[in-house]
Amino acid sequence: MSELSRTAVVWFRNDLRLHDHEPLMSALQSRPAKVVCVYVLDPRHFGTTSLFDFPKTGPIRAKFLFEALSDLRKKLQAIGNDLLILRGFPEIVVPELIEKMQPCELYYHQEATDEEMKVETSLVKAFTLQGVKSHSYWGSTLYHKSDLPFEVKDLPPVFTQFRIACENNAKVRPPLAAPTTVPPAPSGVDFGLLPELNEFDLPEPNSDPRSVLQFKGGETAAFERLNHYFWETDRLKSYKLTRNGLLGADYSSKFAPWLAHGCISSRQITAEVARYEHDRVQNDSTYWLVFELIWRDYFRFFALQAGTSLFHLTGPRNVKKNWIQEPSLLNAWIEGQTGIPFIDANMRELRITGFQSNRGRQNVASFLVKSLGLDWRAGAEWFESQLIDFDVCSNWGNWSYVAGVGNDPRQDRYFQVIKQARDYDPKGTYVKSWLPELESLSAEMVHEPWRMEKGGQGNFSFGFQYGRDYPRPIIDLEASYSRLRAEQASNPNDQSRPFHRRKSR
Ligand SMILES: Cc1cc2nc3c(=O)[nH]c(=O)nc-3n(C[C@H](O)[C@H](O)[C@H](O)COP(=O)(O)OP(=O)(O)OC[C@H]3O[C@@H](n4cnc5c(N)ncnc54)[C@H](O)[C@@H]3O)c2cc1C
Repeated sequence: MSELSRTAVVWFRNDLRLHDHEPLMSALQSRPAKVVCVYVLDPRHFGTTSLFDFPKTGPIRAKFLFEALSDLRKKLQAIGNDLLILRGFPEIVVPELIEKMQPCELYYHQEATDEEMKVETSLVKAFTLQGVKSHSYWGSTLYHKSDLPFEVKDLPPVFTQFRIACENNAKVRPPLAAPTTVPPAPSGVDFGLLPELNEFDLPEPNSDPRSVLQFKGGETAAFERLNHYFWETDRLKSYKLTRNGLLGADYSSKFAPWLAHGCISSRQITAEVARYEHDRVQNDSTYWLVFELIWRDYFRFFALQAGTSLFHLTGPRNVKKNWIQEPSLLNAWIEGQTGIPFIDANMRELRITGFQSNRGRQNVASFLVKSLGLDWRAGAEWFESQLIDFDVCSNWGNWSYVAGVGNDPRQDRYFQVIKQARDYDPKGTYVKSWLPELESLSAEMVHEPWRMEKGGQGNFSFGFQYGRDYPRPIIDLEASYSRLRAEQASNPNDQSRPFHRRKSR
Protein backbone atom coordinates (compact mmCIF):
# COMPACT_ATOMS: atom_id res chain seq x y z
CA MET A 1 0.00 0.00 0.00
CA SER A 2 1.44 3.36 -0.94
CA GLU A 3 2.02 5.56 2.10
CA LEU A 4 1.22 8.62 0.05
CA SER A 5 -2.28 7.57 -0.92
CA ARG A 6 -3.28 6.00 2.36
CA THR A 7 -6.07 7.43 4.55
CA ALA A 8 -6.13 6.99 8.33
CA VAL A 9 -9.60 6.85 9.85
CA VAL A 10 -9.71 7.76 13.56
CA TRP A 11 -12.93 6.65 15.24
CA PHE A 12 -13.75 8.84 18.26
CA ARG A 13 -15.90 7.30 20.98
CA ASN A 14 -15.81 8.24 24.69
CA ASP A 15 -12.51 10.00 24.02
CA LEU A 16 -13.60 13.42 22.74
CA ARG A 17 -10.24 15.16 23.01
CA LEU A 18 -7.04 15.81 21.10
CA HIS A 19 -4.53 15.51 23.96
CA ASP A 20 -3.43 12.09 25.23
CA HIS A 21 -5.09 10.35 22.32
CA GLU A 22 -2.95 7.41 21.26
CA PRO A 23 -5.10 6.32 18.27
CA LEU A 24 -4.84 9.80 16.75
CA MET A 25 -1.11 10.10 17.46
CA SER A 26 -0.41 6.61 16.09
CA ALA A 27 -2.43 7.42 12.99
CA LEU A 28 -0.36 10.58 12.47
CA GLN A 29 2.91 8.75 13.09
CA SER A 30 2.03 6.37 10.26
CA ARG A 31 2.28 9.42 7.95
CA PRO A 32 -0.99 9.05 6.08
CA ALA A 33 -1.85 11.30 3.15
CA LYS A 34 -5.32 11.98 4.51
CA VAL A 35 -7.00 11.66 7.90
CA VAL A 36 -10.70 11.21 8.61
CA CYS A 37 -11.79 11.82 12.20
CA VAL A 38 -15.23 10.34 12.70
CA TYR A 39 -17.83 10.17 15.47
CA VAL A 40 -20.93 8.02 15.13
CA LEU A 41 -24.23 8.95 16.78
CA ASP A 42 -25.55 5.51 17.63
CA PRO A 43 -29.39 5.45 17.84
CA ARG A 44 -29.14 2.77 20.53
CA HIS A 45 -27.69 5.39 22.87
CA PHE A 46 -30.91 7.36 22.50
CA GLY A 47 -33.30 4.46 22.99
CA THR A 48 -34.35 3.12 26.38
CA THR A 49 -32.54 1.15 29.05
CA SER A 50 -32.92 -2.61 28.74
CA LEU A 51 -34.87 -3.48 31.92
CA PHE A 52 -36.78 -0.45 33.17
CA ASP A 53 -37.33 1.49 29.93
CA PHE A 54 -35.79 4.75 31.11
CA PRO A 55 -34.45 7.07 28.39
CA LYS A 56 -30.90 5.77 27.88
CA THR A 57 -29.42 9.25 27.53
CA GLY A 58 -31.35 12.04 29.21
CA PRO A 59 -31.31 15.58 27.77
CA ILE A 60 -28.73 16.96 30.19
CA ARG A 61 -26.07 14.41 29.22
CA ALA A 62 -27.04 14.58 25.55
CA LYS A 63 -26.50 18.36 25.59
CA PHE A 64 -23.08 17.90 27.20
CA LEU A 65 -22.15 15.30 24.57
CA PHE A 66 -23.22 17.52 21.68
CA GLU A 67 -21.22 20.43 23.12
CA ALA A 68 -18.20 18.15 23.35
CA LEU A 69 -18.62 17.19 19.68
CA SER A 70 -18.88 20.82 18.69
CA ASP A 71 -15.72 21.65 20.61
CA LEU A 72 -13.83 18.72 19.06
CA ARG A 73 -14.93 19.79 15.59
CA LYS A 74 -13.71 23.36 16.20
CA LYS A 75 -10.37 22.12 17.52
CA LEU A 76 -9.84 19.83 14.54
CA GLN A 77 -10.78 22.61 12.13
CA ALA A 78 -8.17 24.84 13.76
CA ILE A 79 -5.41 22.33 12.93
CA GLY A 80 -6.39 21.51 9.36
CA ASN A 81 -8.97 18.75 9.75
CA ASP A 82 -12.65 18.41 10.73
CA LEU A 83 -14.96 16.02 12.54
CA LEU A 84 -17.13 13.81 10.38
CA ILE A 85 -20.40 13.09 12.17
CA LEU A 86 -22.27 10.00 11.06
CA ARG A 87 -25.60 8.64 12.25
CA GLY A 88 -26.30 4.91 12.50
CA PHE A 89 -24.85 1.73 13.96
CA PRO A 90 -21.04 2.08 13.97
CA GLU A 91 -20.61 -1.54 12.88
CA ILE A 92 -22.52 -0.65 9.69
CA VAL A 93 -21.67 2.98 8.91
CA VAL A 94 -17.93 2.79 9.68
CA PRO A 95 -17.32 -0.12 7.26
CA GLU A 96 -19.37 1.79 4.65
CA LEU A 97 -17.13 4.80 5.16
CA ILE A 98 -13.99 2.66 5.01
CA GLU A 99 -15.16 1.20 1.70
CA LYS A 100 -15.13 4.70 0.20
CA MET A 101 -11.75 5.60 1.71
CA GLN A 102 -9.66 2.66 0.54
CA PRO A 103 -6.77 2.20 0.93
CA CYS A 104 -7.10 3.04 4.60
CA GLU A 105 -6.53 1.86 8.17
CA LEU A 106 -8.65 2.38 11.27
CA TYR A 107 -7.51 3.64 14.70
CA TYR A 108 -9.65 3.66 17.85
CA HIS A 109 -9.76 3.32 21.64
CA GLN A 110 -11.06 0.10 23.20
CA GLU A 111 -13.95 0.11 25.64
CA ALA A 112 -14.41 -2.26 28.57
CA THR A 113 -18.04 -3.34 28.61
CA ASP A 114 -20.25 -5.73 26.71
CA GLU A 115 -22.36 -3.51 24.40
CA GLU A 116 -19.37 -1.45 23.32
CA MET A 117 -17.10 -4.49 22.88
CA LYS A 118 -19.74 -6.24 20.75
CA VAL A 119 -19.70 -3.24 18.40
CA GLU A 120 -15.89 -3.48 18.21
CA THR A 121 -16.04 -7.20 17.46
CA SER A 122 -18.56 -6.66 14.64
CA LEU A 123 -16.41 -3.89 13.22
CA VAL A 124 -13.26 -5.96 13.26
CA LYS A 125 -15.15 -8.79 11.51
CA ALA A 126 -16.32 -6.40 8.78
CA PHE A 127 -12.77 -5.05 8.35
CA THR A 128 -11.31 -8.52 8.04
CA LEU A 129 -13.70 -9.12 5.13
CA GLN A 130 -12.71 -5.76 3.62
CA GLY A 131 -9.02 -6.50 4.10
CA VAL A 132 -8.67 -3.38 6.27
CA LYS A 133 -6.15 -3.21 9.09
CA SER A 134 -7.47 -1.87 12.41
CA HIS A 135 -5.43 -0.68 15.37
CA SER A 136 -7.02 -0.51 18.82
CA TYR A 137 -5.59 1.14 21.94
CA TRP A 138 -6.28 1.16 25.65
CA GLY A 139 -6.53 4.75 26.86
CA SER A 140 -9.20 5.38 29.47
CA THR A 141 -7.34 4.66 32.70
CA LEU A 142 -4.51 6.12 34.72
CA TYR A 143 -2.59 2.84 34.75
CA HIS A 144 -2.38 1.32 31.29
CA LYS A 145 -3.84 -2.17 31.07
CA SER A 146 -0.49 -3.51 29.81
CA ASP A 147 1.37 -1.95 32.76
CA LEU A 148 -0.71 -3.63 35.49
CA PRO A 149 1.37 -5.91 37.71
CA PHE A 150 -1.19 -8.72 37.14
CA GLU A 151 -3.49 -9.99 34.42
CA VAL A 152 -6.98 -8.46 34.45
CA LYS A 153 -8.40 -11.93 35.12
CA ASP A 154 -6.34 -11.94 38.35
CA LEU A 155 -7.51 -8.48 39.47
CA PRO A 156 -7.27 -8.27 43.28
CA PRO A 157 -10.75 -8.68 44.79
CA VAL A 158 -10.30 -5.66 47.08
CA PHE A 159 -9.56 -2.10 45.96
CA THR A 160 -6.79 -1.50 48.51
CA GLN A 161 -4.82 -4.50 47.24
CA PHE A 162 -5.25 -3.23 43.68
CA ARG A 163 -4.14 0.29 44.58
CA ILE A 164 -1.08 -0.80 46.55
CA ALA A 165 -0.01 -3.24 43.81
CA CYS A 166 -0.29 -0.50 41.19
CA GLU A 167 1.36 2.20 43.27
CA ASN A 168 4.30 -0.06 44.11
CA ASN A 169 4.77 -1.88 40.81
CA ALA A 170 3.40 0.20 37.95
CA LYS A 171 4.10 3.63 36.52
CA VAL A 172 1.56 6.05 35.09
CA ARG A 173 2.57 6.90 31.53
CA PRO A 174 2.95 10.61 30.77
CA PRO A 175 0.05 12.05 28.75
CA LEU A 176 0.60 12.61 25.04
CA ALA A 177 0.54 16.16 23.76
CA ALA A 178 -2.20 17.20 21.35
CA PRO A 179 -1.13 17.35 17.70
CA THR A 180 -0.56 20.81 16.26
CA THR A 181 -1.54 19.83 12.76
CA VAL A 182 -3.54 17.01 11.15
CA PRO A 183 -3.61 16.30 7.39
CA PRO A 184 -6.97 17.09 5.83
CA ALA A 185 -9.72 14.61 5.02
CA PRO A 186 -10.08 13.52 1.37
CA SER A 187 -11.96 16.06 -0.72
CA GLY A 188 -15.70 15.58 -1.10
CA VAL A 189 -16.34 14.38 2.46
CA ASP A 190 -19.66 15.70 3.78
CA PHE A 191 -18.89 16.27 7.45
CA GLY A 192 -22.53 16.26 8.54
CA LEU A 193 -24.42 18.55 10.86
CA LEU A 194 -23.81 18.74 14.57
CA PRO A 195 -26.62 16.96 16.41
CA GLU A 196 -29.39 18.85 18.15
CA LEU A 197 -31.61 17.70 20.99
CA ASN A 198 -34.83 17.77 18.98
CA GLU A 199 -33.29 15.33 16.49
CA PHE A 200 -33.55 12.75 19.30
CA ASP A 201 -36.89 14.04 20.64
CA LEU A 202 -35.14 15.39 23.71
CA PRO A 203 -36.29 18.65 25.35
CA GLU A 204 -33.92 21.56 26.02
CA PRO A 205 -33.00 21.13 29.72
CA ASN A 206 -33.86 24.05 32.00
CA SER A 207 -30.89 25.51 33.79
CA ASP A 208 -31.37 25.74 37.55
CA PRO A 209 -29.49 28.24 39.72
CA ARG A 210 -29.04 25.51 42.34
CA SER A 211 -26.90 23.39 39.98
CA VAL A 212 -23.43 22.80 41.41
CA LEU A 213 -22.00 23.99 38.10
CA GLN A 214 -23.20 25.03 34.65
CA PHE A 215 -21.38 22.12 32.98
CA LYS A 216 -20.28 22.60 29.39
CA GLY A 217 -19.04 19.70 27.29
CA GLY A 218 -15.68 19.62 25.54
CA GLU A 219 -11.94 19.56 25.99
CA THR A 220 -11.75 23.36 26.19
CA ALA A 221 -14.18 23.52 29.12
CA ALA A 222 -12.44 20.55 30.80
CA PHE A 223 -9.12 22.42 30.85
CA GLU A 224 -10.88 25.57 32.07
CA ARG A 225 -12.37 23.60 34.97
CA LEU A 226 -8.98 22.10 35.81
CA ASN A 227 -7.37 25.50 35.69
CA HIS A 228 -10.09 26.91 37.95
CA TYR A 229 -9.94 24.10 40.52
CA PHE A 230 -6.16 23.78 40.70
CA TRP A 231 -4.61 27.09 39.83
CA GLU A 232 -7.15 29.92 40.12
CA THR A 233 -8.89 28.90 43.34
CA ASP A 234 -6.28 26.55 44.83
CA ARG A 235 -9.07 24.18 45.88
CA LEU A 236 -6.98 21.09 45.20
CA LYS A 237 -4.98 21.64 48.37
CA SER A 238 -8.10 21.12 50.51
CA TYR A 239 -9.90 18.52 48.35
CA LYS A 240 -9.73 15.76 50.97
CA LEU A 241 -11.37 18.00 53.55
CA THR A 242 -14.16 19.25 51.31
CA ARG A 243 -14.89 16.32 48.99
CA ASN A 244 -17.87 15.10 51.01
CA GLY A 245 -19.68 18.40 50.50
CA LEU A 246 -23.12 18.76 49.00
CA LEU A 247 -23.48 22.39 47.91
CA GLY A 248 -21.51 24.51 45.47
CA ALA A 249 -19.10 24.15 42.60
CA ASP A 250 -15.84 23.58 44.41
CA TYR A 251 -16.29 21.03 47.22
CA SER A 252 -15.01 18.44 44.72
CA SER A 253 -13.33 18.59 41.34
CA LYS A 254 -16.49 17.95 39.20
CA PHE A 255 -14.15 16.42 36.62
CA ALA A 256 -16.43 13.37 36.23
CA PRO A 257 -18.55 14.53 33.22
CA TRP A 258 -15.42 15.43 31.25
CA LEU A 259 -13.69 12.20 32.22
CA ALA A 260 -16.75 10.15 31.29
CA HIS A 261 -16.83 11.65 27.79
CA GLY A 262 -13.06 11.53 27.50
CA CYS A 263 -12.74 15.32 27.18
CA ILE A 264 -9.80 15.07 29.56
CA SER A 265 -7.69 12.04 30.40
CA SER A 266 -6.99 10.96 33.96
CA ARG A 267 -3.26 10.87 33.06
CA GLN A 268 -3.49 14.54 32.10
CA ILE A 269 -5.12 15.37 35.45
CA THR A 270 -2.48 13.39 37.34
CA ALA A 271 0.35 15.10 35.47
CA GLU A 272 -1.22 18.43 36.43
CA VAL A 273 -1.47 17.28 40.08
CA ALA A 274 2.27 16.56 39.98
CA ARG A 275 2.95 20.04 38.57
CA TYR A 276 0.76 21.57 41.30
CA GLU A 277 2.61 19.55 43.94
CA HIS A 278 5.90 20.84 42.59
CA ASP A 279 4.83 24.48 42.23
CA ARG A 280 2.39 24.92 45.13
CA VAL A 281 1.91 22.20 47.72
CA GLN A 282 1.96 18.45 48.11
CA ASN A 283 -0.35 17.10 50.82
CA ASP A 284 -3.04 14.49 51.62
CA SER A 285 -5.52 16.30 49.41
CA THR A 286 -3.36 16.31 46.30
CA TYR A 287 -2.77 12.59 46.82
CA TRP A 288 -6.46 11.96 47.43
CA LEU A 289 -7.58 13.19 44.05
CA VAL A 290 -5.25 10.65 42.45
CA PHE A 291 -6.51 8.04 44.93
CA GLU A 292 -10.05 8.63 43.62
CA LEU A 293 -8.85 8.31 40.04
CA ILE A 294 -7.41 4.93 41.01
CA TRP A 295 -10.92 3.93 42.17
CA ARG A 296 -12.10 4.86 38.71
CA ASP A 297 -9.40 2.59 37.24
CA TYR A 298 -10.42 -0.20 39.56
CA PHE A 299 -14.04 -0.13 38.42
CA ARG A 300 -12.93 -0.13 34.78
CA PHE A 301 -10.69 -3.16 35.17
CA PHE A 302 -13.33 -4.79 37.36
CA ALA A 303 -15.89 -4.34 34.54
CA LEU A 304 -13.46 -5.88 32.10
CA GLN A 305 -12.96 -8.84 34.40
CA ALA A 306 -16.68 -9.23 35.27
CA GLY A 307 -17.97 -9.17 31.67
CA THR A 308 -21.76 -9.40 31.38
CA SER A 309 -22.11 -10.56 35.01
CA LEU A 310 -21.75 -6.88 35.99
CA PHE A 311 -25.28 -6.36 34.67
CA HIS A 312 -26.87 -9.50 36.14
CA LEU A 313 -29.14 -9.40 39.18
CA THR A 314 -26.75 -11.69 41.06
CA GLY A 315 -23.79 -9.50 40.03
CA PRO A 316 -20.19 -10.54 39.49
CA ARG A 317 -20.12 -12.48 42.77
CA ASN A 318 -23.30 -14.42 41.94
CA VAL A 319 -25.03 -13.40 45.18
CA LYS A 320 -28.61 -14.64 45.47
CA LYS A 321 -31.00 -12.31 47.31
CA ASN A 322 -34.73 -11.70 47.25
CA TRP A 323 -34.93 -8.38 45.44
CA ILE A 324 -38.29 -6.59 45.41
CA GLN A 325 -39.97 -5.23 42.27
CA GLU A 326 -42.36 -2.50 43.42
CA PRO A 327 -42.98 0.35 40.95
CA SER A 328 -44.61 2.65 43.51
CA LEU A 329 -41.54 2.54 45.77
CA LEU A 330 -39.21 2.98 42.81
CA ASN A 331 -41.20 5.99 41.56
CA ALA A 332 -41.15 7.61 44.99
CA TRP A 333 -37.35 7.25 45.00
CA ILE A 334 -36.99 8.60 41.45
CA GLU A 335 -39.27 11.56 42.09
CA GLY A 336 -37.75 12.47 45.46
CA GLN A 337 -41.01 11.69 47.28
CA THR A 338 -39.88 9.03 49.76
CA GLY A 339 -40.57 11.20 52.80
CA ILE A 340 -36.89 10.93 53.87
CA PRO A 341 -35.64 14.49 53.24
CA PHE A 342 -31.96 13.68 52.65
CA ILE A 343 -32.88 11.06 50.04
CA ASP A 344 -35.47 13.26 48.36
CA ALA A 345 -33.17 16.30 48.15
CA ASN A 346 -30.47 14.22 46.47
CA MET A 347 -32.89 12.57 44.06
CA ARG A 348 -34.42 15.90 43.04
CA GLU A 349 -30.97 17.37 42.49
CA LEU A 350 -30.14 14.46 40.18
CA ARG A 351 -33.35 14.74 38.16
CA ILE A 352 -33.16 18.52 37.80
CA THR A 353 -29.41 18.99 37.23
CA GLY A 354 -27.99 15.61 36.15
CA PHE A 355 -25.49 15.73 39.02
CA GLN A 356 -25.37 14.37 42.54
CA SER A 357 -22.47 14.40 45.00
CA ASN A 358 -20.62 11.22 45.85
CA ARG A 359 -22.03 11.40 49.39
CA GLY A 360 -25.53 11.66 47.94
CA ARG A 361 -24.99 8.75 45.55
CA GLN A 362 -23.76 6.46 48.32
CA ASN A 363 -26.81 7.25 50.44
CA VAL A 364 -29.56 7.07 47.83
CA ALA A 365 -28.10 3.84 46.47
CA SER A 366 -27.87 2.26 49.92
CA PHE A 367 -31.43 3.39 50.67
CA LEU A 368 -32.77 1.82 47.46
CA VAL A 369 -31.02 -1.51 47.71
CA LYS A 370 -30.72 -1.99 51.47
CA SER A 371 -33.63 -0.21 53.13
CA LEU A 372 -36.18 -0.65 50.32
CA GLY A 373 -34.63 -3.89 49.04
CA LEU A 374 -35.48 -2.98 45.43
CA ASP A 375 -33.75 -4.55 42.42
CA TRP A 376 -30.42 -2.69 42.38
CA ARG A 377 -30.39 -2.58 38.59
CA ALA A 378 -33.35 -0.16 38.64
CA GLY A 379 -31.14 2.32 40.47
CA ALA A 380 -28.22 1.71 38.13
CA GLU A 381 -30.44 2.23 35.07
CA TRP A 382 -31.98 5.43 36.49
CA PHE A 383 -28.49 6.81 37.13
CA GLU A 384 -27.46 5.71 33.64
CA SER A 385 -30.38 7.68 32.24
CA GLN A 386 -29.88 10.84 34.30
CA LEU A 387 -26.23 11.33 35.24
CA ILE A 388 -24.29 13.91 33.24
CA ASP A 389 -21.17 11.92 34.15
CA PHE A 390 -22.59 8.47 33.46
CA ASP A 391 -19.73 6.06 32.94
CA VAL A 392 -20.80 2.48 32.49
CA CYS A 393 -17.94 1.00 34.56
CA SER A 394 -18.06 3.51 37.44
CA ASN A 395 -21.83 3.44 37.59
CA TRP A 396 -22.48 -0.28 37.42
CA GLY A 397 -19.38 -1.01 39.49
CA ASN A 398 -20.46 1.34 42.28
CA TRP A 399 -24.05 0.09 42.20
CA SER A 400 -23.03 -3.55 42.35
CA TYR A 401 -20.64 -2.62 45.19
CA VAL A 402 -23.36 -0.91 47.24
CA ALA A 403 -25.80 -3.72 46.44
CA GLY A 404 -23.33 -6.23 47.86
CA VAL A 405 -23.06 -8.22 44.63
CA GLY A 406 -19.89 -6.54 43.37
CA ASN A 407 -16.37 -6.27 44.61
CA ASP A 408 -17.14 -5.54 48.25
CA PRO A 409 -16.46 -8.60 50.38
CA ARG A 410 -18.60 -7.09 53.14
CA GLN A 411 -21.81 -7.36 51.22
CA ASP A 412 -24.19 -6.42 54.04
CA ARG A 413 -23.00 -2.89 54.76
CA TYR A 414 -25.49 -0.07 54.69
CA PHE A 415 -25.72 3.67 55.33
CA GLN A 416 -27.72 5.09 58.23
CA VAL A 417 -29.28 7.91 56.27
CA ILE A 418 -30.37 10.16 59.13
CA LYS A 419 -26.94 10.02 60.75
CA GLN A 420 -25.37 10.78 57.39
CA ALA A 421 -27.74 13.71 56.90
CA ARG A 422 -26.90 15.13 60.33
CA ASP A 423 -23.14 14.65 59.79
CA TYR A 424 -22.96 16.13 56.29
CA ASP A 425 -25.85 18.63 56.35
CA PRO A 426 -26.01 19.63 60.03
CA LYS A 427 -28.12 22.76 59.49
CA GLY A 428 -30.28 21.24 56.77
CA THR A 429 -29.14 23.86 54.26
CA TYR A 430 -28.72 21.34 51.48
CA VAL A 431 -32.05 19.64 52.15
CA LYS A 432 -33.88 22.96 52.29
CA SER A 433 -32.40 24.12 48.99
CA TRP A 434 -33.95 21.13 47.20
CA LEU A 435 -37.05 20.81 49.39
CA PRO A 436 -38.19 24.43 49.85
CA GLU A 437 -41.39 23.13 51.45
CA LEU A 438 -39.25 22.29 54.52
CA GLU A 439 -37.82 25.81 54.77
CA SER A 440 -39.66 26.64 58.01
CA LEU A 441 -38.44 23.55 59.86
CA SER A 442 -35.68 23.81 62.45
CA ALA A 443 -32.32 22.10 61.90
CA GLU A 444 -33.48 19.68 64.58
CA MET A 445 -36.59 18.63 62.65
CA VAL A 446 -35.64 19.05 59.02
CA HIS A 447 -34.04 15.63 58.61
CA GLU A 448 -36.79 13.85 60.56
CA PRO A 449 -40.03 15.79 60.06
CA TRP A 450 -42.00 12.88 61.51
CA ARG A 451 -40.60 13.85 64.91
CA MET A 452 -42.87 16.91 64.90
CA GLU A 453 -45.82 14.57 65.32
CA LYS A 454 -44.15 12.23 67.78
CA GLY A 455 -42.83 15.10 69.89
CA GLY A 456 -46.35 16.43 70.40
CA GLN A 457 -45.61 19.57 68.39
CA GLY A 458 -48.45 18.84 66.02
CA ASN A 459 -47.73 18.71 62.35
CA PHE A 460 -47.75 22.43 61.64
CA SER A 461 -44.86 24.83 61.44
CA PHE A 462 -45.44 28.30 60.03
CA GLY A 463 -48.12 27.13 57.62
CA PHE A 464 -46.28 23.93 56.72
CA GLN A 465 -48.50 20.90 57.11
CA TYR A 466 -46.72 17.59 57.41
CA GLY A 467 -48.33 14.87 55.31
CA ARG A 468 -49.86 17.46 52.97
CA ASP A 469 -46.87 19.62 51.96
CA TYR A 470 -44.35 16.82 52.33
CA PRO A 471 -45.06 13.07 52.35
CA ARG A 472 -44.74 10.74 55.31
CA PRO A 473 -41.91 8.17 54.90
CA ILE A 474 -42.65 5.28 52.56
CA ILE A 475 -40.86 2.93 54.97
CA ASP A 476 -39.87 2.72 58.58
CA LEU A 477 -36.11 3.31 58.41
CA GLU A 478 -35.41 1.94 61.87
CA ALA A 479 -37.33 -1.25 61.08
CA SER A 480 -35.29 -1.63 57.90
CA TYR A 481 -32.05 -1.34 59.89
CA SER A 482 -33.30 -3.95 62.39
CA ARG A 483 -34.04 -6.29 59.48
CA LEU A 484 -30.57 -5.65 58.02
CA ARG A 485 -28.94 -6.29 61.40
CA ALA A 486 -30.90 -9.53 61.77
CA GLU A 487 -29.79 -10.60 58.28
CA GLN A 488 -26.21 -9.85 59.24
CA ALA A 489 -26.47 -11.80 62.46
CA SER A 490 -27.77 -14.83 60.58
CA ASN A 491 -24.86 -14.67 58.15
CA PRO A 492 -21.95 -16.67 59.65
CA ASN A 493 -19.41 -14.98 57.34
CA ASP A 494 -20.66 -11.53 58.11
CA GLN A 495 -18.06 -8.82 58.73
CA SER A 496 -20.58 -6.06 58.19
CA ARG A 497 -21.05 -2.70 59.80
CA PRO A 498 -22.78 0.51 58.82
CA PHE A 499 -21.03 2.28 55.95
CA HIS A 500 -20.61 5.52 57.85
CA ARG A 501 -17.76 4.15 59.94
CA ARG A 502 -15.52 3.63 56.96
CA LYS A 503 -12.59 5.97 56.93
CA SER A 504 -11.50 5.98 53.36
CA ARG A 505 -14.64 6.81 51.35
C1 LIG B 1 -24.14 4.48 43.06
C2 LIG B 1 -23.00 5.29 42.45
C3 LIG B 1 -22.97 5.52 41.08
C4 LIG B 1 -21.93 6.25 40.51
N1 LIG B 1 -21.93 6.47 39.15
C5 LIG B 1 -20.89 7.13 38.58
C6 LIG B 1 -20.83 7.33 37.17
O1 LIG B 1 -21.70 6.90 36.41
N2 LIG B 1 -19.78 8.05 36.67
C7 LIG B 1 -18.78 8.51 37.47
O2 LIG B 1 -17.84 9.14 36.95
N3 LIG B 1 -18.79 8.30 38.79
C8 LIG B 1 -19.80 7.63 39.38
N4 LIG B 1 -19.81 7.45 40.74
C9 LIG B 1 -18.62 7.82 41.52
C10 LIG B 1 -18.60 9.23 42.15
O3 LIG B 1 -19.77 9.44 42.89
C11 LIG B 1 -18.44 10.34 41.11
O4 LIG B 1 -17.34 10.06 40.28
C12 LIG B 1 -18.19 11.69 41.75
O5 LIG B 1 -19.22 12.00 42.66
C13 LIG B 1 -18.12 12.76 40.67
O6 LIG B 1 -17.87 14.02 41.22
P1 LIG B 1 -16.44 14.69 41.09
O7 LIG B 1 -15.95 14.60 39.70
O8 LIG B 1 -16.53 16.02 41.71
O9 LIG B 1 -15.58 13.72 41.98
P2 LIG B 1 -14.24 13.96 42.82
O10 LIG B 1 -14.53 13.67 44.24
O11 LIG B 1 -13.63 15.26 42.51
O12 LIG B 1 -13.29 12.79 42.31
C14 LIG B 1 -12.41 12.94 41.20
C15 LIG B 1 -12.68 11.84 40.20
O13 LIG B 1 -12.39 10.57 40.77
C16 LIG B 1 -13.28 9.59 40.23
N5 LIG B 1 -14.06 9.00 41.31
C17 LIG B 1 -14.34 9.51 42.52
N6 LIG B 1 -15.06 8.64 43.25
C18 LIG B 1 -15.25 7.55 42.48
C19 LIG B 1 -15.91 6.31 42.66
N7 LIG B 1 -16.55 5.99 43.78
N8 LIG B 1 -15.92 5.45 41.62
C20 LIG B 1 -15.31 5.71 40.46
N9 LIG B 1 -14.65 6.87 40.24
C21 LIG B 1 -14.62 7.77 41.23
C22 LIG B 1 -14.20 10.32 39.26
O14 LIG B 1 -13.68 10.19 37.97
C23 LIG B 1 -14.12 11.76 39.75
O15 LIG B 1 -14.40 12.70 38.74
C24 LIG B 1 -20.87 6.73 41.33
C25 LIG B 1 -20.93 6.50 42.70
C26 LIG B 1 -21.98 5.79 43.26
C27 LIG B 1 -22.01 5.56 44.74
